[in-house]
Amino acid sequence: MIDYRRLRVALLGAGAVGSQVAALLLKHGDELADRAGAALELVGIAVRDLDAPRETDLPRELFTTDAESLIVGADIVIELMGGIEPAKTYLLQAINSGADIVTANKALLATHGPEIFDAADQVGAQVYYEAAAAGAIPIIRPLRDSLAGDRVQRIMGIVNGTTNYILDRMDTEGADFADVLAQAQALGYAESDPTADVEGYDAAQKAAILASLAFHTTIPLDAVHREGITSIDKAMIDSARHAGHVIKLLAVCERLAADADADSESISVRVYPALIHRDHPLASVHGANNAVFVEAEAAGNLMFYGAGAGGVQTASAVLGDVVSAARRHIAGGVGVGESTRANLPIVPIGRVTTRYQITLEVDDQPGVLATVAGILSDGRVSIATVEQTVIDHPDLGVPVARLVIGTHKAREQDLSDTVDRLAASGVVERVVSVLRVEGD
Ligand code: NAP
Repeated sequence: MIDYRRLRVALLGAGAVGSQVAALLLKHGDELADRAGAALELVGIAVRDLDAPRETDLPRELFTTDAESLIVGADIVIELMGGIEPAKTYLLQAINSGADIVTANKALLATHGPEIFDAADQVGAQVYYEAAAAGAIPIIRPLRDSLAGDRVQRIMGIVNGTTNYILDRMDTEGADFADVLAQAQALGYAESDPTADVEGYDAAQKAAILASLAFHTTIPLDAVHREGITSIDKAMIDSARHAGHVIKLLAVCERLAADADADSESISVRVYPALIHRDHPLASVHGANNAVFVEAEAAGNLMFYGAGAGGVQTASAVLGDVVSAARRHIAGGVGVGESTRANLPIVPIGRVTTRYQITLEVDDQPGVLATVAGILSDGRVSIATVEQTVIDHPDLGVPVARLVIGTHKAREQDLSDTVDRLAASGVVERVVSVLRVEGD
């Protein structure tokens, strides 16, 4: 047996992910040592409550409530507590005491990433966070390393399992949003307070992390346009299916060419429910799975697919980081800092162009279609397709037609101004929905 150098590994947190990381680290210690070229000694596990039940059977003597003492002298600190504080303070302490750090904490990295990366740069430490963007799916390393020689044009990600589970069941079973959400909560796919998932906050944090890597630019969380899925109803899902589309909550990170408004390249980062064609690879991502579709200038289209969450699945990504950290620790030298030198401007949502599907209920009278077409044309929104069906609307007492209008690419600001004018036009009874269409 090889007498490897010992590296002291401190684990902060033993919840869904941390308990699995500890169990795998102990179970596969010899194998991991061979891969890392160092013996990974789990020196302790910091938790809040020593008596809380754990998902895996771990030696009691490893547990402590004194995280700060555990950090001192550690070579690698794994943070799996979640939240901003005290996680941030502990990570900064770990960096300043010479450790490399591994974290899955998207909330912390999306809000305080630059501070943590700067602190690591100052002392030559390395920050690993493969599990922070899409659980078990390797996407951070592909963006940071494998595609470092290419130019990423666009990322479209299904990065929140809860919302994908809800939208998928609405699509495949015709279920209502509220019913599926309640079932998702009962099954443990959704939190009792589902806001972070269904309002798109979790996806926005991941979008900020992915975009900053893809475009070498610091992305403040408040620069990410965010909309959730609570307005999506059965009628929208049916209408999407009818048109050969499916609705997914997408994180879209896009490089925009210079145009009349900007004399240099810029980027857009946005999270919203959007229609994608059923032939698109992202349309086949079912249940709580995640996928990240990357379009790169030279590599073309790449798709990364798998479990975006789950304790043991996420532990795989964390342990990959631990092995990388160990290898670097043994090799020595300074860590590689985050590349944010491109520093591209981030455009507001109003300047983004996409295709749209606008569903209207209009008076079923001669000339109405021409009026609607005129308003769209005046607003610089060009029509690609129109489908009209007469519907029976007992509340209105007048014949009503439903118009489903597909547009060519239009500017978001033009589109939203035009929809306001349509709503006020007198021929439109109701704007049923306005959805973006993504994926060419
Ligand atoms: P969790 O189940 O809530 O576990 C959190 C752990 O941290 C618990 O063991 C808790 O101790 C400990 N902890 C919290 N505050 C502490 C403090 N002040 N001092 C010491 N220990 C403290 O969380 P999780 O689901 O494992 O998630 C951990 C991280 O991974 C989060 O950043 C999350 O976003 C990320 N992540 C999770 C998943 C997933 O599928 N769960 C997927 C991807 C990324 P007690 O047990 O004593 O309460």
